[in-house]
Amino acid sequence: MSSLSYAAPTSVDDAVKLLAGASGLAKVLSGGTDLLVQLRSGRLKPELIVDTKKIPGIIGIREENGGFVIGAATPGAVVEAHPGLNAAWPGLVEALDLIGSTQVQGRCSLAGNLCNASPAADSVPALFAAGATAVIVGSKGKREVPVEQIPTGPGRTSLAKDEFIVEFRLPPRPARSGDAYLRFIPRTEMDIAVVGCGVNVTLDANGICTAARVALGAVSPTVILVPAAADVLIGHKLDADTLARLDAAAQAAAKPISDKRGTVEYRTKIAGVLARRTAAIAFDRANGIKNGKAH
Ligand SMILES: Cc1cc2nc3c(=O)[nH]c(=O)nc-3n(C[C@H](O)[C@H](O)[C@H](O)COP(=O)(O)OP(=O)(O)OC[C@H]3O[C@@H](n4cnc5c(N)ncnc54)[C@H](O)[C@@H]3O)c2cc1C
Repeated sequence: MSSLSYAAPTSVDDAVKLLAGASGLAKVLSGGTDLLVQLRSGRLKPELIVDTKKIPGIIGIREENGGFVIGAATPGAVVEAHPGLNAAWPGLVEALDLIGSTQVQGRCSLAGNLCNASPAADSVPALFAAGATAVIVGSKGKREVPVEQIPTGPGRTSLAKDEFIVEFRLPPRPARSGDAYLRFIPRTEMDIAVVGCGVNVTLDANGICTAARVALGAVSPTVILVPAAADVLIGHKLDADTLARLDAAAQAAAKPISDKRGTVEYRTKIAGVLARRTAAIAFDRANGIKNGKAH
């Protein structure tokens, strides 16, 4: 029987060396709310666990060049308590806040949610919609990529064996911008999204959309960015015609599976409804309407 080693390095270089040197499967540990469940169930049998939480800067939030930098292992509860992030990125904060329970919130991270690579991960559509980038370190140095380039399939990412994410970068926020995330679940708490939707918009002084990003979760093998849905919004106010075209674009992009949470037809229909409702909240927020209600 192979044994499992645990290491908690205190520098990026040491963590990369450990990952690169492992002969078998090595897994990075942030909050452990996915990884520990997978270890206990026997689904994963790594040789090495590299806990990143002792690496300086990997937990924490700072403002830089007009945007925010969130350490990869920063727990959800810390993000949710940050006034600046709540003001600038309420959609991302509410998406992270939907993960699990208070106990899970004390540990769960954006990096773990993204790299667990579940198509139904809640914070990921909001991260995609925000235009966030991930700073990745590895033996070949540092690289920064748009977050949508990281998940490649259920449980799979584009990261090399010796790579891990150290931080996420959120771009500066233009005036009249707003984001939102909604998920549909059959229960009120502690369930996995049947569909999730993140929308991020910037409006001009007349309320016309000048920039948009729309992402859908749980309707494809990975969370997806839907440029056709964003194109429907750009150049328009959120009137009945735009909402109808957004609904159609979201439904067209949805390629879900049928499972116990919903059929293909049901998920496709919900994708359109959620896109409309999420866009309505994002537009309200961009227009300065707090706690915008779904139209
Ligand atoms: C009771 C319960 C309820 C849950 N509810 C939800 C929910 O409602 N919505 C939801 O989306 N999820 C939910 N989850 C899943 C989980 O909490 C989230 O996916 C969480 O964000 C994972 O973060 P973590 O820091 O705990 O990840 P970890 O478990 O530490 O890691 C998860 C994966 O990411 C990799 N990883 C971690 N950090 C890095 C890094 N820095 N660089 C590269 N790879 C890395 C790990 O190797 C592992 O493969 C729930 C889990 C539990 C136990």
